[in-house]
Amino acid sequence: MKLKGRGSVILFPLPFQGHINPMLQLANILHERGFSISIIHTRFNSPNPLNYPLFRFYPIPDGLSENHVISSDPNRIVAFVKFLNSNCQTPLRNCLAKLISTSLEDEDPIACLVTDALWYSTQAVADDLKLPRIVLRTTNVSSFIVLSSMSLLFEKGYLPLQDSVAEMEVPELPQFRFKDIAMLEASDRESFLQFIEILVQETKASSGIILNSCEDLEQEFLSKLSLLFPIPVFLIGPFHKYFPASSSSLLPQDRTCISWLDKQQPNSVIYVSFGSVAAIEEADFLEVAWGLANSMQAFLWVVRPGLVQGSEWLELLPNGFLEMVGERAHIVKWAPQQEVLAHPSTGAFWTHCGWNSTLESLCEGVPMICQPSFGDQKIDSRFVSHVWRVGVHLEFKIERGEIERAIRRLMVEPEGQEMRERIKLIKDKINLCLKLGGSSYKSLDNLVSYILSM
Ligand code: UDP
Repeated sequence: MKLKGRGSVILFPLPFQGHINPMLQLANILHERGFSISIIHTRFNSPNPLNYPLFRFYPIPDGLSENHVISSDPNRIVAFVKFLNSNCQTPLRNCLAKLISTSLEDEDPIACLVTDALWYSTQAVADDLKLPRIVLRTTNVSSFIVLSSMSLLFEKGYLPLQDSVAEMEVPELPQFRFKDIAMLEASDRESFLQFIEILVQETKASSGIILNSCEDLEQEFLSKLSLLFPIPVFLIGPFHKYFPASSSSLLPQDRTCISWLDKQQPNSVIYVSFGSVAAIEEADFLEVAWGLANSMQAFLWVVRPGLVQGSEWLELLPNGFLEMVGERAHIVKWAPQQEVLAHPSTGAFWTHCGWNSTLESLCEGVPMICQPSFGDQKIDSRFVSHVWRVGVHLEFKIERGEIERAIRRLMVEPEGQEMRERIKLIKDKINLCLKLGGSSYKSLDNLVSYILSM
């Protein structure tokens, strides 16, 4: 129920699936705490307003063609985010100015703007319009620290990555090896560092940071974060646990997954998905397929159209593959992931370790096979395999024999059961964070009071 008069919060998600989901979940959380919600969004990858009848939606032009496709190349993603920042700054300003000038006296006053950390150009707009801006960072704390320390890591000579030290621990961050902090191989280092610098600077200039994590999960990094960002920080996650499965999916979720899972034995299925952006080479796709087939385990595989560049969908699978795996396999274009992970038949998750996927898996107590490609995924993967010890990291080339071994370790061998027991403890710890008196619960209370004080 909406409590009248608490004020209105305007949210502006970055148009990537992994950023839209947490922003819309945050909108739900704030709405439930009594704020009225407006969502300003790009026309590209627009959320569906019909799924949120209680929110107001305001599309703004973004300069993209209707059939724009997000690249899976990290350097191009950085260029794309910069493009969005420069193209959307004026439309955002116009939209906000209009909302401010036309807001009626009996409407909730605008309390603040919440934008993704990667929307760095929105800080200047917020300053101009005298609107407090709170930043949402959609990764965990530790990878945000690594990202924010990028210039320093280059200055110290830790990066670019040198093969001779790749496996060694970073002295200041002993949880991670040098190869884990090499978030991407920048094609233009100066421009990449400039991008990070402005992101950090505009986050520091904001009124606070919200993260989709919880204090109990990342205790040891909190003081480092406060040193880097001496502004209020709110760890109120995991967001998706406040409400049942999210409705902010950009692709239709194939619900046959659930009826197929219903027919499987408990903990017997390996769920495979590499998220909304990562792509793989054709040769690797075939290794994945053979690794799954040879493992002799049941599998639910999300093959997103475009997972292999230039392919339509399953035409690259070897002749007779589908007949060979038969009922043991279910392949879909996009799954209701949170429900799949919560299903009792799901025994392991082979993931690219995007933070949303990692957190969703932790929350359901599902151990992981980690196959990170870039950015924070490598940090998440290291956490899963070496800090929390609830998964295995596919370290080297994607190869069917290695895949088969990893699957067997999780699904068949005692090691998998030990991981299941460890991840169950993490799941319980996370659940406690959200309960009355838990760290996320208190942090959300603090966030609400903070917004009310603005
Ligand atoms: N997701 C989904 N269906 C799928 C695969 C993924 O709904 O078949 C959702 C998943 O639950 C998560 C998001 O898409 O919330 C992916 O975010 P993540 O940070 O894991 O990865 P990204 O796509 O940003 O690389």
